Amino acid sequence: MSAPVRVRFAPSPTGYLHIGGARAALLNWLWARHTGGKFILRIEDTDQERSTEDAVRAILDGMRWLGLDWDEGPDVGGPFGPYFQMQRLGLYKEYAEKLVKAGKAYACYCSKEDLDAQRELAKAEKRQFIYPGTCRDLAYDPSRRHVIRFRLPKLLELTFTDLVKGAITRPGSTLQDEVIVRADGVPLYNFGAVVDDVTMEINLVARGDDHVNNTAVQVLLYEALGYPVPAFAHLPMILGADKTRLSKRHGATSVTAYRDMGFLPEAVVNYLVRLGWSHGDQEIFTMGELVKHFGFDHVGATASVFNPEKMVWVNQTWVKSLPPAELARRALPYYRAAGLEVEGDPRLPDVAKAYQERAKTLVDLVSQSRCYFAPVEMDPKAQEKFLGSDAAPILQAIRDGIAASAALDAAGLEKLFHDVAAARSLGLGKVAQPVRVALTGGTASPGIYDVILLLGREESLARLDAGLKLAGG
Ligand code: GLU
Ligand code: ZN
Repeated sequence: MSAPVRVRFAPSPTGYLHIGGARAALLNWLWARHTGGKFILRIEDTDQERSTEDAVRAILDGMRWLGLDWDEGPDVGGPFGPYFQMQRLGLYKEYAEKLVKAGKAYACYCSKEDLDAQRELAKAEKRQFIYPGTCRDLAYDPSRRHVIRFRLPKLLELTFTDLVKGAITRPGSTLQDEVIVRADGVPLYNFGAVVDDVTMEINLVARGDDHVNNTAVQVLLYEALGYPVPAFAHLPMILGADKTRLSKRHGATSVTAYRDMGFLPEAVVNYLVRLGWSHGDQEIFTMGELVKHFGFDHVGATASVFNPEKMVWVNQTWVKSLPPAELARRALPYYRAAGLEVEGDPRLPDVAKAYQERAKTLVDLVSQSRCYFAPVEMDPKAQEKFLGSDAAPILQAIRDGIAASAALDAAGLEKLFHDVAAARSLGLGKVAQPVRVALTGGTASPGIYDVILLLGREESLARLDAGLKLAGG
């Protein structure tokens, strides 16, 4: 039996949770859940100039909204984790010292000025600057200001296997004795990540393929620390329609922006996982199905193109499939954001049911169904077209019919509309449309009987009266 899977997501909190980061988090999470392993969240906040509390919050918000929970973290006497690298500086120091003692790393005392001058020279000579190992054999003097550099083992090339990309080889000549800990004791990315992967016992590293070039050095660092090299899965970047890396130019790229636009987390998860992973022709997956079927063997090696229309389609499919009461519950914050206090309104599930075939997002649902919870906002174009003087007798007849009906129900309304249409030799649509405009302020709505039933008798009559006035009736 092989060891339980331990994977991680290690974002740098320098911005919101990007679509690409969220996909990496999701695939790791799915693999952990699929295998019964552990998923660890580690905030790589060592770039103190660019890391912010807001970004940490945005990342955690995004993770929670997507339903990606993490399994471990420091014991903080409450809900644990995530890990923060800046709380683990002692550990990096300890591991760096171990390497120094073993001769696998050394203190470098070179000044910034010296190194800059060498870099300039290399530039002038059009060659890549590689640290020449000036301090390799100097005695360790912790009292002098120094950085720690990794002592690169002699090697021609380094090859590692990637679950997505296959074998990847890097020539040794492109590697150097790189800095692993800065003078202030803060580790550089490659070292911090490896020490964490070692101490967190990570055995599969799945991340964006922008890190492929870091992997060779990381492999050497795992080896130097005497730790089995984990498996790697480098995920192709997500591209925009123009085949350049997905960025703001292509539209919203943060997970929370999609939440704010009224996407369901199920749909975002569903869409993200399908970017580069497939299971036959299936397009719509529940989280449970994803956990059941996911594996890195079906992650494609080529970059996928982000398609906003398809994402909307996936969302719409999810909106249609939620039970109406659940859909209504999910829509509550969006009603609130639109200034509508609807909580506790018993009509909510029926409204959701009437609109779920038409709404692409929760924001859509709210704006389309606004008229049940707020006064009519008349669309001037609809008014001009449908509430002219010839609408008055129709509105009057429907109004009187509703006022006279004993109980309001779909069958009674259907008969009323048919009678009014037949008496005037009109198509049903010619009767329904002015009524619709009077009741909702616009020309698009679910079936007119549903609209009347949702509004109720009193409100329907009041709106028909107002419509009659506009029509000069
Ligand atoms: N902090 C790195 C990033 O956000 C993570 C790299 C990794 O997963 O090793 O790109
Ligand atoms: Zn040096």
